[in-house]
Amino acid sequence: MTLRSPSDVTKLRNGVLMPWLGLGVWRAEGEQAIQAVKWAVQTGYRHIDTAAIYRNEKEVGIAVKECGVNRHNLFITSKLRIHGYESAITSCEQTLKDLQTDYLDLYLIHWPMPEEGKYIETWKAFEKLYRDGKVRAIGVANFYDTWIKEIMEQCDIVPMVDQFEYHPYYQMRELHQFCIDNGIQYEAYSPLGGGAVLKDPEISKIADKYGKTSAQVILRFELQTGVVVIPKSVHKERIESNMALFDFELSQEDMQKFYAMDADKKITCRRPDMPFETWKKLRAEGKI
Ligand code: NDP
Repeated sequence: MTLRSPSDVTKLRNGVLMPWLGLGVWRAEGEQAIQAVKWAVQTGYRHIDTAAIYRNEKEVGIAVKECGVNRHNLFITSKLRIHGYESAITSCEQTLKDLQTDYLDLYLIHWPMPEEGKYIETWKAFEKLYRDGKVRAIGVANFYDTWIKEIMEQCDIVPMVDQFEYHPYYQMRELHQFCIDNGIQYEAYSPLGGGAVLKDPEISKIADKYGKTSAQVILRFELQTGVVVIPKSVHKERIESNMALFDFELSQEDMQKFYAMDADKKITCRRPDMPFETWKKLRAEGKI
C-alpha cells in the first residue's frame, strides 16, 4: 500500500472514501474541542471522530461551521451509545442536530452490549438510516468477529468498518484478518495506547533512526498494516506532528520489530465481553 499524502483515502465496501488519518476527540471538552478540531482542519486533517457519549458533538459542530472548509470535504464519524431500534433513530437525529449537519459520513454502534442482546435490532435501524441517506456508511466499534458474523447472518448490510483498540501492544491479528477477509475496514482507536505506548524505549530508538517522533513511527506502523488511525490531541504542535506521517516509510525490518511488540495488552477500554463491574474491580486491584 502506498501512502503519500494526508488526504489519502481508503475505499469502504460501499465505495465511500474514508481518510486514513483522523482526529479523535474523546476527552476534549468545550472550547478545547472547538480549538482542536479547527487546528486539525487548518493543518490538513479531513476526518474527525466523535461520539454522543463524548459530549462534544455540539463543539465539533461549531468547529466544522467555523473551520473554513466545506462540510462536504470533511469526513465526520459519530457513535451510538443506547441500543434499540427507536433509540438508534432518535439518537442519530440528535447527533445530526448537535453536529449541525444533514448527514454523517460514518455512524458506528459504539459498544456491542452483548448482555442486552439488542445489537441486531440496533443494526436494523442503522440499515434504515443508511437507506434514508442520513449516514453515508455504517459500522461497529468494539465488536469481535462472532458478533459481526451474527449481523452478517441476520441482516442485509455487512458493517463497513470495525473500530477497535489497536496499537503496538494490542494488534488483534485474528480480528484484523477477519475484517480483511470480509471487506471490513479496521480502524484503530487509541492508536497511541492513550499515550502509554509513547514511552517505549525500543520505539524511541526506531523513531531516532528516521528522525521522527515515537508517535509518528507508531502511527506509521499502523497505517502500513492497512488500519485507519484517529490519534487524539488538544495541542496544536502534536496535532500537526501527528499528521506528518506521509514523507517516510518503515522498513520491513522495523515493521517486524513492531509486530514483535504485540502483548495482547488492552490499555484504554475494557474488553467488550467483560462486564463493567469486573473490569472496574480488576483495574482497582492493578490486575489489568
Ligand atoms: P490516543 O491513543 O490517541 O492517545 C491520546 C493521548 O496521547 C492523549 O493523552 C494525548 O494528549 C496524547 N498525545 C497525542 N499525540 C501526542 C504526541 N504527539 N506526543 C505526546 N502525547 C501525545 O488515545 P484515545 O484513547 O484518545 O484514542 C483516540 C481516539 O479514538 C479517541 O479520541 C476517540 O475518538 C477514539 N476512541 C474510540 C473508542 C471506542 O470505543 N470506539 C474508545 C477510545 C477511543 P493531549 O491531548 O494532551 O495532546
